Amino acid sequence: MRLRRLLAPAWVGVWLLAPLALAQSPGSNTQGRARETAPVARQKPQVKPVPTATPQQPLPVEAASKPSGGQRGVRDPSTFEQLAPDPAELVEVLAHIPDALVELRYATRDNFVGEVMYPADSRCLLRRDALLRLVKVADALRAEQLRLKLWDCYRPLAVQWKLWERFPKPGYVADPRRGGNHNRGAAIDLTLVDAAGDELEMPTPYDSFQKAAHQGYAGGTARSRQNRDRLRRAMEAAGFRINRSEWWHFDAPGALKLPVRDEPLVAGEAQP
Ligand SMILES: [Zn+2]
Repeated sequence: MRLRRLLAPAWVGVWLLAPLALAQSPGSNTQGRARETAPVARQKPQVKPVPTATPQQPLPVEAASKPSGGQRGVRDPSTFEQLAPDPAELVEVLAHIPDALVELRYATRDNFVGEVMYPADSRCLLRRDALLRLVKVADALRAEQLRLKLWDCYRPLAVQWKLWERFPKPGYVADPRRGGNHNRGAAIDLTLVDAAGDELEMPTPYDSFQKAAHQGYAGGTARSRQNRDRLRRAMEAAGFRINRSEWWHFDAPGALKLPVRDEPLVAGEAQP
């Protein structure tokens, strides 16, 4: 009551608020703007200076000490970039695309060599810069009620040697003396699944060496080609490069210049 009585006369408001507006204008960097926004500034004069008054970066530094803690929700890629700036670090994909399905075929016998090549609890890892692109792909596809299913991500060089011993066919298995982009943490094998997790129809199963697995293959059902092209478009929009003979394989741009590496797929130490 008393407050209202005090504020009621119009001249009181003018005298109270005018100094605030004046005090703010020297701090703002646009002179003309202070005039235009004067009526608005009267309502909330202090709001603007508050965030700009703390331009340091204590927040990112603090958050960077726990890089892969957040499991819920999907990270904003721009925040993600700030949180952990090392582009070469191998990062677990599920920590940043929590709704992806991971089915590492080399951790099972269901692969073209018919042998288990990865430890059972292997993670899908990618270089951070490649993962950042994949986060964008997942975001775009989520808007269409689609998700990613990941069949292979980073592959240790030791496994590449084993694959090569069993199937030394350049073009399908990278020569371990040079290493492939999976060995660089910069390639990914994946497909699309619907909201229920069911795979969309594609021209061939994973790791098929038939012509139908080629990107330009014009046979098969129209739906399989549409789905293949949908995956391709989504990946290319984020900068990934196709592999002409494998519709499921994509490389990060500039992957060949990156170093080959041999790191464990299992958290902590490598498994026997
Ligand atoms: Zn691949």
